[in-house]
Amino acid sequence: MKEAKPGWRELPFGAVPYKSSLEYHTGDWGVERPEFDLEKCTRCTLCHFYCPEGAISFDAGHPEVDLRYCKGCGICANECPAGAIRMVRKG
Ligand code: SF4
Ligand code: SF4
Repeated sequence: MKEAKPGWRELPFGAVPYKSSLEYHTGDWGVERPEFDLEKCTRCTLCHFYCPEGAISFDAGHPEVDLRYCKGCGICANECPAGAIRMVRKG
C-alpha cells in the first residue's frame, strides 16, 4: 500500500519539502501570477531559468505559466530584461 504524503498545508512551520515541487502544487500559495506581453517578449528564456518552480515553459514558442506551480513570487517579472512581465492578481 502506498504511503500517503503530507501536503504543504500539513507541514510544520519552517519545514523544508525534500521532494520535487512536482508533488507539491505550490501554485496554491500565490495571490499573483505573471502576465506576459508577447509584443515586448524577445523569447530570451531567462524567465524560465529564473523561475524557482520551473513553472514557465516555451512549448508554444513563447512563455506560458503553469498556474499549478507558479507561487506568485515575481522573480520572473523582476528579472525579465524586456519588461515584458507584470504581476497581476490571480482570480
Ligand atoms: S524573460 Fe522576458 S523577454 Fe525573456 S522570454 Fe521571459 S518574458 Fe520574454
Ligand atoms: S511568479 Fe515566481 S513562481 Fe511564478 S512564474 Fe514567476 S518566477 Fe515562477
